[in-house]
Amino acid sequence: MLHLETGSGGLLEHRLLNELLPELDGFAEVQVLDEIRHDGAAFPIHSLSAGSKDPQAPLLLLTGGVHGLERIGSHVILAFFQHLARMALWSESIHHLLSQIRIAALPVINPVGMSLRRRSNGAGVDLMRNAPVESHGSAWRLWSGQTITPRLPWFRGQPEAMEKESSLLCDFVRRERQGRSFTLALDLHSGFGSKDSLWYPYSHRLSPPANLAEYSALARLLDKSPLLSIYDFEPQTRHYQISGDLWDLLLLEAEASGDEQRFLPLTLELGSWLWLRKHPSSILSSEGPFNPLIRHRYERILRRHGVLLLLLAEACASHRRWLPAEGQRATYQSEARNRWYGP
Ligand SMILES: [Zn+2]
Repeated sequence: MLHLETGSGGLLEHRLLNELLPELDGFAEVQVLDEIRHDGAAFPIHSLSAGSKDPQAPLLLLTGGVHGLERIGSHVILAFFQHLARMALWSESIHHLLSQIRIAALPVINPVGMSLRRRSNGAGVDLMRNAPVESHGSAWRLWSGQTITPRLPWFRGQPEAMEKESSLLCDFVRRERQGRSFTLALDLHSGFGSKDSLWYPYSHRLSPPANLAEYSALARLLDKSPLLSIYDFEPQTRHYQISGDLWDLLLLEAEASGDEQRFLPLTLELGSWLWLRKHPSSILSSEGPFNPLIRHRYERILRRHGVLLLLLAEACASHRRWLPAEGQRATYQSEARNRWYGP
């Protein structure tokens, strides 16, 4: 069982991945995409992938650990691969699912930040403020991304020359989704609010993305499931507007090439205020506000969001059954506008 406990001997998440390797053998491909050097040490960035080798197969793409303090998302991804590998030993339906889709993941994008126990990467850059996308408002707010100093949080670095971790993530997404019939991406974060939220782009502007109808259809799937109606499905700008969001960049690129209806990136923001209320002493730890430190709660989080990942995998496999047909898009769009943007 994975667990968020500290120890010596390298990054915990890398040790967990190493321990998983025997189980993943023959089920998933694990590669070192590149490494990040910091203070004389090398930190690998791993990719995991499993499922269909058909280059057009729909893709579920999972990313975690963009913010180094938010470790729980990486654990949810590793637990999901462990679950699938164990299910694949006996389950026909898992084999069938994986014959229809590809699942690819970058479980730890910011290993240096994780190792240093801080949000930013080794250079002090907040990777989720690092893309060359400018907010249409709120520029005066520090958390929207600042270019003053890496000593303060939310430092954007140089968006025109993105950090290596940001470029690796974006290139991975571009490469993996190229030629695919459909891609659902989920970037796992934690720490904001008392509810678990699913945010869709954009975060740099208030107006909706061109694939609003598709997001509306996906929200319907979740709303209709009694197991998954726990999530607040919303545009990210309901909470804050920022510059430099990597997913905004990738979705803008998809819009520019006219294939945004086949690309739905989401951010899962695990609300930690509930965990903190039940265990207020967690706030004394630097990681407490972002991760469940009590074992039974940690295990509950892995189970809870594993259900979401399974639904998203099914949604990829069956995307033709729920995505709106061309003639239905206007209806879905107006439903979404009423729900999220007012009449
Ligand atoms: Zn985050």
